[in-house]
Amino acid sequence: MRDWAKTCQGCGGKCCGAYPLPSELLGRFADRLQVPCGFMPLDDEYTMPLTTDGMCPFLSRHDGLCVVYRDRAPVCRAYGEIPELPCQKLHPEAALLSVHETVVRIGKRLGLDLTAMRVET
Ligand code: SF4
Ligand code: SF4
Repeated sequence: MRDWAKTCQGCGGKCCGAYPLPSELLGRFADRLQVPCGFMPLDDEYTMPLTTDGMCPFLSRHDGLCVVYRDRAPVCRAYGEIPELPCQKLHPEAALLSVHETVVRIGKRLGLDLTAMRVET
C-alpha cells in the first residue's frame, strides 16, 4: 500500500474539499477547526461542513496539512485507493471532476444519495 503521509506532503490537500465528514469527528475535534464552519447534517452519522473557501475545516490554511491526520475519516483514507476517488496529485486530470460529482461519489461511498445536493463552486 502507498505511503500516503509521504505522498501527501507538499500537496496542499488537493482532495481536501468541504465534503461529508463523520459528525462524531467534527464534534470530537471542534477545537481544531481551522476556519469558521457551518454544519449541515446529512443523516445520523454524517455532516456536510460548510466553509467559505470550500475546503475542509480541518485543513491548515498555513501549511496545507490535515490537523486530524491520524484520526481522519475513512473516506479521507479512501482517496487514491479506490478508482472513483482518485488522488489529484498523482492523477491531475481528476481535478477536472466537479465538486458536485465528487460529493455524489463520496455520498455513494458512504451510502448516501447526495445527487440533489446543491454545491456552490
Ligand atoms: S490529492 Fe492525493 S496527495 Fe493530495 S492530499 Fe489528496 S490523496 Fe494526498
Ligand atoms: S479531515 Fe483531513 S484528510 Fe480529511 S478532508 Fe479534512 S483535511 Fe483532508
